[in-house]
Amino acid sequence: MTEAQTPSRATRPGRAEEFDAVIVGGSLAGSAAAIALGRAGARVALVEQRPDPQAYKQVCSHFIQASAVPALERLGLLQPMLDAGAVRSSFRIWTRWGWIVPPPDARRAGINLRRSLLDPLLRDTALATPGVESLLGHTAVDLVGGAGERVRGVVVRDRGGAERELRARLTVGADGRGSRVARLAGVATRTTPHGRFAYGTYFEGGAPDHAPDASLWMCDPQWAAGFPTDSGLTFYAAMPTKERLPEFRRDPLAALVKLLADLPDPPPIHEARAVDTVKGKIEMPNVEHEPIAPGLALVGDAALATDPLWGIGCGWALQSAEWLADAVGAPLAAGPGADDALDGGLARYRRRWRRGMIGHARVIEDFSPGRRLNPGERFVFSAAVHDGKLAATMDAFGSRSISPGRALARALPRAAAVHARQARKAVAA
Ligand SMILES: Cc1cc2nc3c(=O)[nH]c(=O)nc-3n(C[C@H](O)[C@H](O)[C@H](O)COP(=O)(O)OP(=O)(O)OC[C@H]3O[C@@H](n4cnc5c(N)ncnc54)[C@H](O)[C@@H]3O)c2cc1C
Repeated sequence: MTEAQTPSRATRPGRAEEFDAVIVGGSLAGSAAAIALGRAGARVALVEQRPDPQAYKQVCSHFIQASAVPALERLGLLQPMLDAGAVRSSFRIWTRWGWIVPPPDARRAGINLRRSLLDPLLRDTALATPGVESLLGHTAVDLVGGAGERVRGVVVRDRGGAERELRARLTVGADGRGSRVARLAGVATRTTPHGRFAYGTYFEGGAPDHAPDASLWMCDPQWAAGFPTDSGLTFYAAMPTKERLPEFRRDPLAALVKLLADLPDPPPIHEARAVDTVKGKIEMPNVEHEPIAPGLALVGDAALATDPLWGIGCGWALQSAEWLADAVGAPLAAGPGADDALDGGLARYRRRWRRGMIGHARVIEDFSPGRRLNPGERFVFSAAVHDGKLAATMDAFGSRSISPGRALARALPRAAAVHARQARKAVAA
């Protein structure tokens, strides 16, 4: 790891430092992008506003969907995560018609590791990657270029107020929900409302049935979940609609435990002991940004921050970083003078990003205001409790391993056949 030095004066120095890529944000998306671009041969500056290398995202249920596990494998992080105690698991969903459980041979396993362990693991790996320089405790405050011109780097400020310019052929905004980089670049933004809030914490004991698989309760419209994870802990979370906010504000732990205990087929929450404070987030609109501009790419939540109910943001942070590095790694490593090739790579990244995410993002947005299940969802869910194949399709869709179009094309005819079969059984009985 190379800790870049800070100039002593509190003004921007005359001579800027040059990198192939400067990445703003050293969490999942930024660290993953730094590892992959560094390995591709690029010289990378990783800028993170928090000075502590052990810093981690505080409000997150940490469940990484199966669709992102290959990205972790490619980064060489799967085994270190397992060594750190990560738990592989699928999920089962409670609905008012019963539990939807994919058959064992069709289950796709995601992975669970607390962010307090995961984030430092990724960041340490990034900072140990040859070609990656870290600027911990530095905040990106401005872009070099931008506002209609090609972006050519960022201005960063250290904790003493000193500013410096980091010039790069590619600037990567990995600065999360509310991305300042996206705002400074003036990229197109789409925001849609979200009608729930989230509270949760880690518990010792009282794991849900069938642990280590996660359990989700879709109580239409209330929602709760238990995610078993490392160290024998379970993260229990609730995402109720906003009218239940006052009781959570009054006493978050009591409200969370009550909501979990009142669930149908509840987890043994009274046998569990909270080992952390209950943390929550109240405003979580879906925010989508145009993911590229000349000289600029956005990854992770900076590009697309969706309703966390579906547990996909961490996976998408890792996957978008992977797609970006695949698209621009070679032109960046080829050195200066290849801006056309870089722009071609950015266009490829945009296409891959849109193909992987936008369909899912629209489905997530539609459910996000806190509405009840629609007739199509009721038709499919009520059939899936009776049919392993349909449950497996829902699992593939929920883990974002297949597109919404493909899921619908498989699920509707299957659900119709299951309902017809159930009707015949009922008549025979
Ligand atoms: C309640 C809740 C539950 C969730 N549960 C899940 C779940 O179970 N599974 C899942 O997959 N996802 C979940 N998510 C979503 C997940 O937390 C995010 O999608 C994920 O953390 C995005 O990673 P990221 O690297 O893009 O951004 P972040 O993790 O937000 O990181 C952004 C980084 O940028 C840094 N930064 C910001 N601005 C600057 C700046 N100007 N200069 C320098 N550094 C800067 C920040 O300090 C931070 O380190 C949940 C989210 C919430 C709110």
